[in-house]
Amino acid sequence: MSDIIKLLPDSVANQIAAGEVIQRPASAIKELMENAIDAGAVRIQVVVKDSGKSFMQVIDDGHGMSETDARLSFERHATSKINQANDLFAIRTMGFRGEALASIAAVAMVEMKTRLHSNDVGTELEIAGSKVELQQPTACPIGTAITIKNLFFNIPARRNFLKSNASETRHIVEEFQRVALAFPEKSFSLTQDGVQVFNLTAGNLKQRITGIFGNGYNERIVPIQEDTTILKIEGYIGKPEFAKKTRGEQFLFVNRRFIKSSYINHAISDAFADLLPPNTFPSYFLFIEIDPSKIDINIHPTKTEIKFEDEKSIYAIIRAATKRALGKFSITPSLDFDQETAFNIPVSMYGTLPRQPEVKVDKSYNPFTAENNAKKNTHGWENLYIKSSDQPSDLFEVEPASRPNQKIKIFGQFALKYILACNSEGMLLIDQKRAHERILYERHAKLLIQSAQAIQQDLFPIKIEFSTADAHLIKEIEPELKKIGFDISELGGTTFVLNGVPSGTERGREKYILEAILESYKNQSTLSNDQQTEKILRSFASTIAISYGVTLNMEEMDRIVHDLFECDVKEWSPTGKKTFKLLTEQDLHSLF
Ligand code: ADP
Ligand code: MG
Repeated sequence: MSDIIKLLPDSVANQIAAGEVIQRPASAIKELMENAIDAGAVRIQVVVKDSGKSFMQVIDDGHGMSETDARLSFERHATSKINQANDLFAIRTMGFRGEALASIAAVAMVEMKTRLHSNDVGTELEIAGSKVELQQPTACPIGTAITIKNLFFNIPARRNFLKSNASETRHIVEEFQRVALAFPEKSFSLTQDGVQVFNLTAGNLKQRITGIFGNGYNERIVPIQEDTTILKIEGYIGKPEFAKKTRGEQFLFVNRRFIKSSYINHAISDAFADLLPPNTFPSYFLFIEIDPSKIDINIHPTKTEIKFEDEKSIYAIIRAATKRALGKFSITPSLDFDQETAFNIPVSMYGTLPRQPEVKVDKSYNPFTAENNAKKNTHGWENLYIKSSDQPSDLFEVEPASRPNQKIKIFGQFALKYILACNSEGMLLIDQKRAHERILYERHAKLLIQSAQAIQQDLFPIKIEFSTADAHLIKEIEPELKKIGFDISELGGTTFVLNGVPSGTERGREKYILEAILESYKNQSTLSNDQQTEKILRSFASTIAISYGVTLNMEEMDRIVHDLFECDVKEWSPTGKKTFKLLTEQDLHSLF
């Protein structure tokens, strides 16, 4: 056989690389904003149209590029930020891979105007699908302006894969906020379809937080500050009473890079411990400064994950610092300060075997086991049941008499999670939450088909303030929310008013339930092509279903079991998990 291996042309290699780096308009915005930061800009303007699909522009007043650099910047692995492999362990810039501009130019039409401080004229460059179409001197301000038009114009499959405008806009806002929070000393603006949504003037971190999330945050956050030999922590944490029903406002920056870390997240939540109302998440804006050689930021193409060399010490320090911040502001008066401050680690530990610092850490803690995440709590469900005895709850509408005789005998509840029962076929172990989710899902799906969901609780209108990202999401799914009975309308900006809720929504918890639906909606796989309404219905059912850890009386168990067996799809929860297990006589026999 003759030789068959060929080197891919650059344009193809760049397109492949682009698949990793540029997933959506927001990824391009992030890369361009980071480049502007790396270029020392102090004012960064972002302009998008059509949620970035047709037009994105980032204008900076940074150091600009020479004519040669302007041309080179679009080559793959072209970077001014590292020279040798060793530099990888001392990264202080946002970028270093030299892939972003090459990737963007491979999948879009790009125009760049850039001028060095020392030059009178700048350079203009046009590239489309990796091909340079124009390069000429031009008059332009100092700094760089990059315009991206028609993202994925040459990859229709990727273009079609983009989500709705509201959804892509939400991603853009999220990326914008992350960069803007990380650099409060710089000014940023974001203009969408001609409307300026953010105009953030340079200031301190607190001003930046209130600039983005509203002045209300002045009262809601307390500073956190800790200086240890291993790392420096700075920032703000939200007071427990303002904890969010969604995880949205948790910002962790390591050397000013936005990072997601369930491990550190756990350290913070753990420090809040019992202070948080059930099912809420603390807000935090945390900045960690650490020697770049002690971290590995190179493990993920979009760089939001990180590996710490000495994870356990970092966990202990962050947990302790959070506790101390809460204690200092009398949020937890009972804290033992002395113990919580004694966590400086001797410098000699660097480069030696990582050893546990003298702070109590739960050694058996594994952030990835379900147990750690599922703290038992009752969601106030007992109250609902107490109420339901004198005034029947909407959740259990079916009258016992109307049920066909299923001949299911209920024995009781086990582990506050399972209902034990039997029918003629064998023993039934029923998962109380999943069963209830299935029941609620089908009930509301039927109401929806009959357009009967208009039966809403009459509600005193509730005003709700969302984060910008959540407000976008609400706008995106508003029609579906209306369909299932959430009568919500926009008051302006990020403020909404809730006029009605679906039957089954517990009074007093309307706002919580709506927020929890958003959170659950965001966490559902975005890969599935499910109908929006179904997704929301699933989120709704899972939010208002009885949780584990709730004691059920016989009557309640009876209702759940019988209602489940009247469902069209009895065996599976709306998210595809088993609702019950049947152990036949034979199964039982084999156990003995
Ligand atoms: P990286 O940021 O990883 O180096 P990029 O592809 O994002 O890779 O950029 C390539 C190079 O182009 C950068 O290293 C930098 O020298 C230059 N560059 C990109 N954007 C700008 C900008 N806004 N101002 C000045 N130089 C820039
Ligand atoms: Mg870059």
